[in-house]
Amino acid sequence: MSRPDHVFKLLLVGDAGVGKSSMLLRFTDDTFEEHMASTIGVDFKVKTIRVGELTVKLTIWDTAGQERFRTLTSSYYRGCQGIILVFDLTSQQSLLNIQNWLKEIDVFTAPPEPVKLLVGNKADLPDEREVSDDDALAFARVRGMLYLEASAKTRAGIRQAFEEAVRRILDTP
Ligand code: GDP
Repeated sequence: MSRPDHVFKLLLVGDAGVGKSSMLLRFTDDTFEEHMASTIGVDFKVKTIRVGELTVKLTIWDTAGQERFRTLTSSYYRGCQGIILVFDLTSQQSLLNIQNWLKEIDVFTAPPEPVKLLVGNKADLPDEREVSDDDALAFARVRGMLYLEASAKTRAGIRQAFEEAVRRILDTP
């Protein structure tokens, strides 16, 4: 493939177990593991996508399990254009904790501010769901984020989430 028009760094953040690695592997390799050990994690993956007329090369970073020890540092955040904040739709607490992730992002990122997108993962588990669409939308709206729901298991919303992050980055002046 010819040279990309853009190269962007994206990050996935959110509590351990919400499905960040699963979303990344679904997007890049189209695989899903039902019993992925959440300690394994992935460092980063590279994927090139087309958005409209443009070719965009993405380097997408996952926390590789380090979020459990809250040892993410400024070097993880450095130079990123977009951050996908992930919570688990079956865990109200994982949405509340997004507030802490936003604080950390504030501390560790410098202008120009990265684009932030909120994703509720595990939409395939309606019976276990703890977070309604309305609650997630309201949470995102007051914090100036776009909200999408997804399922790494069924693929629903995964490609859309990454593409939307890219579109927002491209739209940022
Ligand atoms: P991470 O710690 O945030 O990277 O989360 P993982 O990707 O390791 O996922 C934690 C657990 O949730 C694993 O057992 C996954 O199989 C499961 N999981 C991840 N995404 C989904 C999903 O969309 N639906 C369901 N049902 N399970 C998921």
